[in-house]
Amino acid sequence: MASIELVQVTKVFDKTAVIDRLDLTIEDGSFTVLVGPSGCGKTTLLRMIAGLDLQTSGSVRIGGKDVSNLAPGQRGVAMVFQNYALYPTMSVRENIEFGLKNNKVKRSERIELVESISETVGLKDYLDRKPSTLSGGQRQRVALARAMVKKPAVFLMDEPLSNLDAKLRGQMRIELIELHKKLGVTFVYVTHDQVEAMSMADRIVLMNGGVIQQEAAPEVIYRQPGNQFTAQFMGVPPMNVYELGANGIKFGFRPEAALLSQSQTQSQSPETNLNTNTPQWSVRGTVATREMLGSETIYQIKSGDRSYMVKSADDQYAFDQEVQLRVDASRIFLFAADGSRLLE
Ligand code: ATP
Repeated sequence: MASIELVQVTKVFDKTAVIDRLDLTIEDGSFTVLVGPSGCGKTTLLRMIAGLDLQTSGSVRIGGKDVSNLAPGQRGVAMVFQNYALYPTMSVRENIEFGLKNNKVKRSERIELVESISETVGLKDYLDRKPSTLSGGQRQRVALARAMVKKPAVFLMDEPLSNLDAKLRGQMRIELIELHKKLGVTFVYVTHDQVEAMSMADRIVLMNGGVIQQEAAPEVIYRQPGNQFTAQFMGVPPMNVYELGANGIKFGFRPEAALLSQSQTQSQSPETNLNTNTPQWSVRGTVATREMLGSETIYQIKSGDRSYMVKSADDQYAFDQEVQLRVDASRIFLFAADGSRLLE
């Protein structure tokens, strides 16, 4: 069992609390992704779980055991970093078995383990190569294999794919999902990339300013964001959010929720406000930018001093064309002035 519990954890750097009395439980065997903008405290949180940073106050429990004051090596966790941290003069095999040698594991056992793990991560043919002769993806696999030989109950990963190009990153994401299924242990993964979080996590912990904004399954985070920050952080392009009238309420809709049609009349008022008696919100505007992505097109529709992002399968609208934008009332989100979600 390796659930992780953070209880009232605080971390102070230079008299500033970057994390303040945070509570979080990470389920055993989950693939949990800590996501949030730069500086929100995700790496600090991960390092406190690993024991690389000690919390200023509060406690960390792994598998029900208080590890708050244990050294990293005694916590049953393995960490994989962004820069891989491989030994350049050692072969792939030597890099993988380094920790085992240190732990005085017998030679025959070491050989067996390295063989089976390198098979799992697809490195069997590269065992005698030096890291400098490998591609970024292969180096990342060596770093994973080196973590795996320790048979940890928890894998902690800090932006492990950020040095890879987009295509390889996509491939490695799938490999990590498969690896997680195969190993069945707890993965805690830090990223600032919400696409990575959405595609890999079974649980997302979204942070901002050291505070958890929402913790839920990816589809819940996306469909039922608890506040404006969550609504706008998850999704590309982000949710459109504007004020609705003068009473401080804001409304939002996702770019894919908007429907475009050719503007029918010139006489319509430029904007129709959301009316609870009608099932739709609608506005007239012009196409300001148009980005054709293949299966979909991203439009920026200007209307007065506002611009709305629209994602559509329809690529027929041209630059400067007048269009009508409509959103079904059921796809509109309402937020209070402080950003909290108002549930209809
Ligand atoms: P990024 O995505 O940019 O890596 P992050 O969410 O992982 O960001 P952290 O690295 O956890 O953020 O940093 C959180 C805050 O703590 C930041 O304001 C950072 O400047 C500060 N911080 C982190 N480490 C230290 C340190 N050793 N000394 C002082 N301040 C630090």
